[in-house]
Amino acid sequence: LFARESQFSTAASGTDHLPPMHKLEIAFAGRSNVGKSSLVNALTGRKTLARTSHTPGRTQQLNFFDLGGFCTLVDMPGYGYAAVSKEKVKSWTQLIHDYLRGRANLARVYVLIDSRHGLKKLDTEVLDMLDTAAVSYQIILTKSDEPKKGELADIVAKTREAIARRPAAFPEIIVTSSREKTGVVELRAAIAQLLHE
Ligand code: GDP
Repeated sequence: LFARESQFSTAASGTDHLPPMHKLEIAFAGRSNVGKSSLVNALTGRKTLARTSHTPGRTQQLNFFDLGGFCTLVDMPGYGYAAVSKEKVKSWTQLIHDYLRGRANLARVYVLIDSRHGLKKLDTEVLDMLDTAAVSYQIILTKSDEPKKGELADIVAKTREAIARRPAAFPEIIVTSSREKTGVVELRAAIAQLLHE
């Protein structure tokens, strides 16, 4: 799955531009600066697949990548950047809402959470949206190299508790660090498993 080339396929800024639902999709969502580009790059083994250090909150589009011809990875625009206007927030919500509705080939959304901060209000709103849309999602903690061991364990426990009664949440949390390349193998395995279900 990840041994073959992954490449950019298309971008969509509205639902009229969405590619056909031929293959299973997995999507990555998270607050701006959570480490999403870094993780997508670590996952696919490509340094430049998803651009890092872009102006946060600027890309209001869904980016579709072909994963070795087997499935599609969807990079969702980051949310929660402070300088973004109400209008932008509205258009983000609309885009995601439209995308989630009726995307039958969407197998799972990976929601990235910074392990230094845990779930914030905006993240919870996104989880609410996914629960309402009945789209299966799983939490990935990023930057696990940052907190101390005890703090990390604490965040994992708190996050687990926060999702325990959420209907569409997958109970297992994946802990990753793109910097130290930890959790990437586990994430790949989780995706491979998902595609075989
Ligand atoms: P995005 O905005 O969610 O796509 O986040 P980026 O991947 O561009 O990363 C945002 C910032 O976090 C950058 O300064 C990265 O160097 C840093 N970062 C990303 N992944 C990690 C990680 O695993 N550990 C640490 N310590 N920093 C990271």
